[in-house]
Amino acid sequence: MPDGRTLQVGTAHHLGDNFAKTFEITYEDSEGEQVYAHQACYGVSERCLAALISTHGDDKGLVLPPEVAPVQVVIIPIIFKNPEEVLAACEKVSEELKDAGIKVKTDDSDKRPGAKYYKWEMQGVPIRLEIGPRDLKNKAAMMARRDTGEKEQIPLEDISTTIKETFADIHKNLYSQAEAQLQEHIFLCEDLEGIKDKLAHGIVQTYWCGREDCGKEMEDVIGAGILGIPNEQPDCRGKKCPLCGEEAVNSIYIARTY
Ligand SMILES: [Zn+2]
Repeated sequence: MPDGRTLQVGTAHHLGDNFAKTFEITYEDSEGEQVYAHQACYGVSERCLAALISTHGDDKGLVLPPEVAPVQVVIIPIIFKNPEEVLAACEKVSEELKDAGIKVKTDDSDKRPGAKYYKWEMQGVPIRLEIGPRDLKNKAAMMARRDTGEKEQIPLEDISTTIKETFADIHKNLYSQAEAQLQEHIFLCEDLEGIKDKLAHGIVQTYWCGREDCGKEMEDVIGAGILGIPNEQPDCRGKKCPLCGEEAVNSIYIARTY
């Protein structure tokens, strides 16, 4: 999360035969014996949504990746005179986008364009299209991206292809921003003082002797949870466990968690 804490969103639990014993779930094994089943359970919760909102959102509100946005494109008609012409053009673009499988909404309410921009920005709609008489004269629409705030004129011809390409670009941009933010918040620390200091800002990677009781004590002393052992390990040779001072066998991640 942007505040440096981590959020548990997915779990895998090995339940062993605890529940099988309670509920008498048995099966016949190859020897013909009735034995208790072993179970595992996996879950990804709606905390994913909280993570998404927190990670990508900005001061203007939600920023939704196109793949999960309930409205992917909002069309704002810019009307001075001849509303029929503009509204007909908006309708045509809307139909074309819908046909291409894009979730689109036209905001033809009485509000002023500025108020509409504000509303749909807050709701995180990835792309806003503004269509007015001047755009129509150029056979174009003005496209605004929620993630970067950039505006550019795009041709009406084959507009669904342009929108889909922009979706891909928005996804890439949001992903790489989030990944960079994550990497910037992982700190390699070798002593308890450093660990405590950096925990206020993010995830700490430190060395560990591999003993479970030492890990539990470390959680108590530091006041944060051990997340696990990262797949990619730094060179641990010659490194010491910051709590007991014994030789490290691998590194661990520690963080304050929600
Ligand atoms: Zn230790």
